[in-house]
Amino acid sequence: MPELPEVETVRRALARALSGQRLSHVHVRRHDLRVPLPRDFVRRLESRRVRKVARRAKFLLVHLDGGEVLVAHLGMSGRMRLFKKPAPKAERHDHVEIETGTRVLRFNDPRRFGLMALVRKDKLDEHKWFRALGPEPLAKDFTGPRLAERLKGRKISLKAALMDQRIVAGLGNIYVSEAMFRAGLSPRRRAGSVQGALAGKFARAIKSVLRAAIAAGGSSLRDHRRPSGELGYFQHHFAVYGRAGERCPGCTCDVKKTGGIKRLVQGGRATFYCPRKQK
Ligand SMILES: [Zn+2]
Repeated sequence: MPELPEVETVRRALARALSGQRLSHVHVRRHDLRVPLPRDFVRRLESRRVRKVARRAKFLLVHLDGGEVLVAHLGMSGRMRLFKKPAPKAERHDHVEIETGTRVLRFNDPRRFGLMALVRKDKLDEHKWFRALGPEPLAKDFTGPRLAERLKGRKISLKAALMDQRIVAGLGNIYVSEAMFRAGLSPRRRAGSVQGALAGKFARAIKSVLRAAIAAGGSSLRDHRRPSGELGYFQHHFAVYGRAGERCPGCTCDVKKTGGIKRLVQGGRATFYCPRKQK
């Protein structure tokens, strides 16, 4: 499932291709996405100009003149593909196609857990998808004290806390595992115990892993492709994610004796960690 770095990679490509452009033609092949598209979806998009392409958590936000925002979520398997005109023939699961003068953007989603919607810009913050979201981890004000305040008093595991979009937005299985490794924190630890200097260290680890992943174009495990069709390559830099039984970076332990990186299932999701380096 795409997490913050994959969505941010898509956002940057869409911003480069669409900012300032007019949407000349919109074609919907399937209205019944996770949330059905409004019947007047095409009419509300056509001839609008794109002001900017932003992101909140794992949502893409295409701001249009006239005050509406095209909200898109990639769900489990959604992809945005950009083509220069003339575009190749549409493929199976290309549900929505948006044209500008020179480009074609296609939203493809085989499993249809993704969505598109139109929300008025001034209603965005109070919309049910956004009003409860936690802070953006790459924002300047996401600091140790801010993270400590988010975690304070919570008795759930650190892993479960970071997966909760209301506590911190945009993270998922991969980057929570990688950030906990960088900070030396066990996924089993009680979330509320991460306070003070530890929270500062963890906030820095979250930012650094997200920045590195964005610079690599995200992680391409099953579905993620950049809108150009290129793969992200951060999956080659995972320290622990998906590496059960292997040695973690910089480890000198005898993997035959220690078992190496451990895989743990928490809340139905796999977590990977090094029990010797993460406490
Ligand atoms: Zn280790």
